[in-house]
Amino acid sequence: MFPKYSFVIPIYNEEESLAELYRRIGAVMERMDGSVELILINDGSRDRSLQIIRELHQKDSRICYLSFARNFGHQIAVTAGVNFARGQVVVILDGDLQDPPELILDMVEQWRLGYQVVYAQRTQRRQESWLKRMPAYLYYRILRHLADVDIPIDTGDFCLMDRCVVDILNKMPERNRYIRGLRAWIGFRQTAVKFDRDPRFAGDVKYTFAKSLGLALNGLVSFSKVPLRLSTYVGLFAAVVSIIMALLVLYWRIFYPHSVLTGLATILMAIFFLGAVQLVSIGILGEYIGRIYEEVKGRPLYTLAEVAGFDNNHHS
Ligand code: UDP
Ligand code: MG
Repeated sequence: MFPKYSFVIPIYNEEESLAELYRRIGAVMERMDGSVELILINDGSRDRSLQIIRELHQKDSRICYLSFARNFGHQIAVTAGVNFARGQVVVILDGDLQDPPELILDMVEQWRLGYQVVYAQRTQRRQESWLKRMPAYLYYRILRHLADVDIPIDTGDFCLMDRCVVDILNKMPERNRYIRGLRAWIGFRQTAVKFDRDPRFAGDVKYTFAKSLGLALNGLVSFSKVPLRLSTYVGLFAAVVSIIMALLVLYWRIFYPHSVLTGLATILMAIFFLGAVQLVSIGILGEYIGRIYEEVKGRPLYTLAEVAGFDNNHHS
């Protein structure tokens, strides 16, 4: 007997949040209308998270866990959890209680109404600094314009997915996993539930600036070819400008033969401009080629050091 619901939660150095997380999730599990498995993925934590997870598993047979052999990152942790989930419905949420577990009940309601994907859309980001909100705000809107699929703005990975969507997600072979994009790509009937994003329960943000930037680039490169076209456009623009310049030079040469028409500054500017354009274009190419390289190597997505709890039978 498989459980009806799987809750998937990636954990990276969340020792301070785990007890409270279990308390809040536990309360929600009681209110669900079927059996629940809680899948915790230890993403190579360096604190006591794994011990605490083991203890929780001992105490509560509904808790299963995976433990990575090192830190693989949030998106991979979520992927692993979804790979192992057996529920008819799979819910993904963060381990820091920024995604209020109580919202799952609203999500399930939408699922019952016939939606296969219910994603949480934040209306507010409480107590997150401007420095984080501003780029996030811009990024989601730029991505929306550039991406081939309609990735809803201000949504993260907090969502509910029906088994039919989960099976497709599990079959997607790509290593650059931008889950909110893949989820949108899959399609079916999708809807949002709105929520205010709570502040972190405890501890520091585990997404460093570099990781956030990496995720953002991943989303853009995985779901849009527009950046590749950018150098074509800039190149065409530069070509037009240079033709105009050439005509101007010719004109000055003929009608004002004694004027000093191109100083060193003009030449330097042109050189720097074109140099910059070329370097940026190569960089953009590199982003795509680097990802092709990643995909081609075909290494496993993660390495597991420990797996427990998935042989339990659930009774609803
Ligand atoms: N996380 C993870 N691996 C990482 C970084 C983060 O599994 O390398 C988990 C973390 O424990 C948390 C979730 O991903 O449950 C979201 O991380 P965080 O709250 O730091 O990022 P936010 O999305 O809030 O900026
Ligand atoms: Mg967080």
